[in-house]
Amino acid sequence: MDESLWRAIVRCEPTFDGQFFYGVVTTRVFCRPSCRSRTPRPENVRIFTSVDDAIAAGFRPCKRCRPDEDPLGPDEALVECAKRVMDRLYSAPLKLGDIARELAVSPYHLHRVFRRVAGTPPAAYLLQTRVEAAKKALATECGRPITDIALAVGFRSSSHFSTTFRRIVGCSPSRYRALHVRSQAEQEVAR
Ligand SMILES: [Zn+2]
Repeated sequence: MDESLWRAIVRCEPTFDGQFFYGVVTTRVFCRPSCRSRTPRPENVRIFTSVDDAIAAGFRPCKRCRPDEDPLGPDEALVECAKRVMDRLYSAPLKLGDIARELAVSPYHLHRVFRRVAGTPPAAYLLQTRVEAAKKALATECGRPITDIALAVGFRSSSHFSTTFRRIVGCSPSRYRALHVRSQAEQEVAR
């Protein structure tokens, strides 16, 4: 496989959408390069230049990236890229300028397009991503201090974390953890 094609798959580059599709032999599913599904092993990848070729070879279109439907426009592709960067780097002290630089656009342009296409500013998406990661950690790493989790998912302080968490989730991090731990214990009793 061509090195640039493989790199496009690994980095989920929307700029390659429409240029080629890739099928995964183990799942018999084919995707656009930008698909955010799990990166396949290179030896399992087959490259196709059209949807028809992929279907003729016995592959089904992925339900996530819908390669059989119209490709994303440039603005949608930019937003997908930005989300991708935030999904990857949310634990770092990421700023709008950092994301824009990764994508080679101006922060102003990124903010405007993101807001229009996604309905929220990039910062809101980033906070949501961090809170989701925190929820997961609170639920599964019971002994880990909450401050530790707050910093690990990219918050600057535990008080900023608590305020944001409460606003988005509707309860405090410790309450969330207590509720989750209790429901897990109940499940164990029920077993
Ligand atoms: Zn896909």
